[in-house]
Amino acid sequence: KIEAKSIYFDYDGLEILNNINLTVKEGEFVVFMGPSGSGKSTFLRLLTGLAQPKQGEILVNNQSVAKSLPDSSVVFQDYSLFPWLTAEENIILALKQKLKKSKTKKELEQLAQGYLELVQLGHAIKKYPGEMSGGMRQRAAIARALSLGSDLMFMDEPFGALDPVTRINLQDLILQVNREQQRTIVFVTHDAEEAIFLADRIVMFTPGPPGKIAEIIDVPFPKTRNRKQLFESLEF
Ligand code: ATP
Ligand code: MG
Repeated sequence: KIEAKSIYFDYDGLEILNNINLTVKEGEFVVFMGPSGSGKSTFLRLLTGLAQPKQGEILVNNQSVAKSLPDSSVVFQDYSLFPWLTAEENIILALKQKLKKSKTKKELEQLAQGYLELVQLGHAIKKYPGEMSGGMRQRAAIARALSLGSDLMFMDEPFGALDPVTRINLQDLILQVNREQQRTIVFVTHDAEEAIFLADRIVMFTPGPPGKIAEIIDVPFPKTRNRKQLFESLEF
């Protein structure tokens, strides 16, 4: 469970978030939407504990993130892979952080291969980020996040660079991860259809006066059970 209480944040006096309150329940899939520059990424960084609000506090499972960083995995807007490691090595590094028990090199490689296959990158395990397309880097970053196995995932426009078919496959994958493994997911997207398909709840960031966010609006959303139902409900 994530609780953000009366959050205020500015960059050198430029107000970005003002009196933001939000609760994300365990296992919930919450999607942030809103115009570019409205503070979605900034708020996500605060929720991860990687940046601190100027006022207010953020609790994850009743613990202040300012005091102890929660166990979470993050896919940033800019992919966040180590450029000097191949796709496989990036995942093995994450696995080594996660797995307390030592695994053999072979076992780690097999696990990494499995995660990369999940995101349809089984053919590119030896590639360095610099040798991959934007969409491939995004998928490698998603595989890395999945391999960390945290109950809490933060994803900032993770599918932005994907072609439509790959995007649909990864939407299905992430929804499955959310439902079957009860992982809590906070996800940013500009794509309304994607938001409706994935979200239990959509949080709209609305632009206020220049440099200010007026408010956020919670839209409770019944999770659509499958894509067919979604299209029927939209009456295409
Ligand atoms: P997008 O949809 O384009 O990703 P966003 O909603 O994620 O936008 P943020 O990245 O949170 O928006 O940025 C919110 C505002 O804060 C913008 O006006 C941006 O220029 C400003 N901003 C973001 N990062 C910094 C920074 N490191 N220093 C100063 N200003 C910043
Ligand atoms: Mg952003």
